[in-house]
Amino acid sequence: MSQPTCLDTHAPTAARIEGFALIAQVRDWARALGFSQIGVAGVDLRAAEPGLLAWLEQGFHGTMGYMALHGLKRARPAELVPGTVSVITARMDYLPRDLGAGWQAIEWARLQDPQQATVSLYARGRDYHKVLRARLQQLADRMAEAVGPFGHRVFTDSAPVLEVELASRSGLGWRGKHTVALRRDAGSMFFLGEIYIDVALPESAPASAHCGSCSACIDVCPTRAIVAPYRLDARRCISYLTIEHDGPIPPELRPLIGNRIYGCDDCQLVCPWNKYAQRASLPDFDEREGLGDATLLALWAWSEEEFLRHTEGSAIRRIGY
Ligand code: SF4
Ligand code: SF4
Repeated sequence: MSQPTCLDTHAPTAARIEGFALIAQVRDWARALGFSQIGVAGVDLRAAEPGLLAWLEQGFHGTMGYMALHGLKRARPAELVPGTVSVITARMDYLPRDLGAGWQAIEWARLQDPQQATVSLYARGRDYHKVLRARLQQLADRMAEAVGPFGHRVFTDSAPVLEVELASRSGLGWRGKHTVALRRDAGSMFFLGEIYIDVALPESAPASAHCGSCSACIDVCPTRAIVAPYRLDARRCISYLTIEHDGPIPPELRPLIGNRIYGCDDCQLVCPWNKYAQRASLPDFDEREGLGDATLLALWAWSEEEFLRHTEGSAIRRIGY
């Protein structure tokens, strides 16, 4: 990594003003790239360490050994990427552009239909990892044109990064009781990404929480995976079981999965704030190849060649035939 520039949040005047000016520009560039919002977080996440350690000690990460592997580096950006002094956080709304009003009712109805196959809304379009990573890199390149070369690394949905913690610290959304980030004007249907940088930028104000006394996500979870507010046992979560889990699904959880074949949206569908969820500005997340309305039998009949063809460029391909 190159050396940090002169922007230092503790320097009170010129450098700080320069930092605010830069972040205002970065905001404009990010919006042009399809991001819905960006923020800036610091790298002192010590307050999150006890919760992270307790979650790992309870084995809630299941077979996601890489979660434990990164240990406290997840809460220490400067150890993960030496030289990091700030994190640019970004979110991107992902609901398909042509999704009509009443989309939640349509999704609930699909879940009740034993003929239908339910794929999580976020996975019906292009692989978001590719979309976000490429655009975060473009954003970093644009910054480098403005301030000169600087050290950075982009992440999206990356195991070593405490994404929701960074998002809430930088004002992108609060951590809901289902553990996903959400906001009052956009619900939770958005992706998160980060750029770790060795340039100090002024931190954004943190997001305030608005779950209140609601517990709808906890109550609706088919497998009781949200074991307490803000605490997810991934081993019981259908998103984990259908995407990340290595090995057979425990027999007692199988009937509870219903027709959810890739991910699960229930705790987000039920969330009252998702009536404000936003459509994507990019075409990338529009539904492809009928993944929004496929039947279980049609998918069951796919050969490996058909699977590869239909899932080209999709996150679903990552889990294999
Ligand atoms: S994604 Fe589904 S299974 Fe996982 S916590 Fe939410 S409702 Fe429960
Ligand atoms: S369903 Fe209720 S408790 Fe859960 S995240 Fe939404 S507002 Fe918070």
